Amino acid sequence: MKHPFSRQLEEIPPSGIRAFFDLVLESNDPDIISLGVGEPDFDTPWPICEEAIRSIENGLTAYSSNQGLFELRKKIAETLEKKHACQLNPKTNILVTSGVSEGLDLIFRVLINPGDEVVVPTPCYVCYAALIRLLGGKVVEVDTSSTQFQVTADAIQSVITPKTKAIILCSPNNPTGTEITKLEMAKIVEMIKSKNLWCISDEIYTALSYDTPPVSLLDFPEIKSNWIVLNGFSKAYAMTGFRVGYMIADESVISRALKIHQYAALCAPITSQYAAIAALKQNKKVINQMNASYLERRNLCVSRFRAMGFELPTPTGAFYCFPNISTTGLNDTEFALALFQQFKVAVVPGSVFGAGGSGHIRCCYATGLNQLITALERIASFVTHLNTPK
Ligand code: PLP
Repeated sequence: MKHPFSRQLEEIPPSGIRAFFDLVLESNDPDIISLGVGEPDFDTPWPICEEAIRSIENGLTAYSSNQGLFELRKKIAETLEKKHACQLNPKTNILVTSGVSEGLDLIFRVLINPGDEVVVPTPCYVCYAALIRLLGGKVVEVDTSSTQFQVTADAIQSVITPKTKAIILCSPNNPTGTEITKLEMAKIVEMIKSKNLWCISDEIYTALSYDTPPVSLLDFPEIKSNWIVLNGFSKAYAMTGFRVGYMIADESVISRALKIHQYAALCAPITSQYAAIAALKQNKKVINQMNASYLERRNLCVSRFRAMGFELPTPTGAFYCFPNISTTGLNDTEFALALFQQFKVAVVPGSVFGAGGSGHIRCCYATGLNQLITALERIASFVTHLNTPK
């Protein structure tokens, strides 16, 4: 066999986040504190679990409709219409997916032909570039590190070519916790309209926005035939293992995504879909309590990292901070490895999130307060150790 495996796949490295998480698992040392994986540290609120259990007790364990339970799609439409200036038809504008991860995979497969360019502001979530390249698409990075990780319409505009097919945005952002302002989003929307591009918006962290109301493409109906909004239940409701999310888009997009989803996934797990309906019925208090706790931890991290002499923009959403550690003289991978080996704290090197992330580390603060305090003390000791003349 000359080429036993897909050439495009062979060129894609495994996820850098997982690489560090695997180090933690392999070492099997209970003293290690992981600020590595981006996962809420809360249990899924019990009423949501109860609804999942009830559905199993009632024998609701078959496939659902490919597109997702109509009751769930209706509830998603109602919830979003209350929050945003949009009108959604649950029959044609919504597809229930196995997490935002599947939504991303589907949308790139729907849109990309080999050679198409996709603009990706970096640092960004690790799967975007990998999935685009797998399809023969070209990733055009916009490095946001020189603008305090603010995505700007001007920076995007500067890389647009006749081959540009789509732009992907993520606000609040993983790994920086920064958000796109409403003003900047309006400029981006104008550009998308004038150039007739697709705009994919990964809004998985919109429920975790602390200082200002989060921006959503759903608030810009003037380009609704060009936008695709992806969201889900993993982060907002601490439901990462349920694997359920959704895609909102024009009927022309949903019908094509559904075609792939029918062949490749059949449907999202039905138990999780019942749990998702219960999640959308939860009192807002549930999310507010989790957010209040994240906010306390964010403030702690920001002040401690600044006290260590590291620059970082104040994260206004998600549960990450992204300090610049380049003043230590180590690159981000060296820093993360030495910190792990010598002080038993796992963080993710910023360069795994694209060119804009190099020289930084991502720390997920969705970890117990006491553990977080200990981890920050250990990082401070590591930095003192680095600064001590040998
Ligand atoms: N998008 C972003 C920006 C993420 O950070 C993550 C997970 O960390 C995902 C998508 C995947 O989410 P899901 O659990 O819904 O597949």
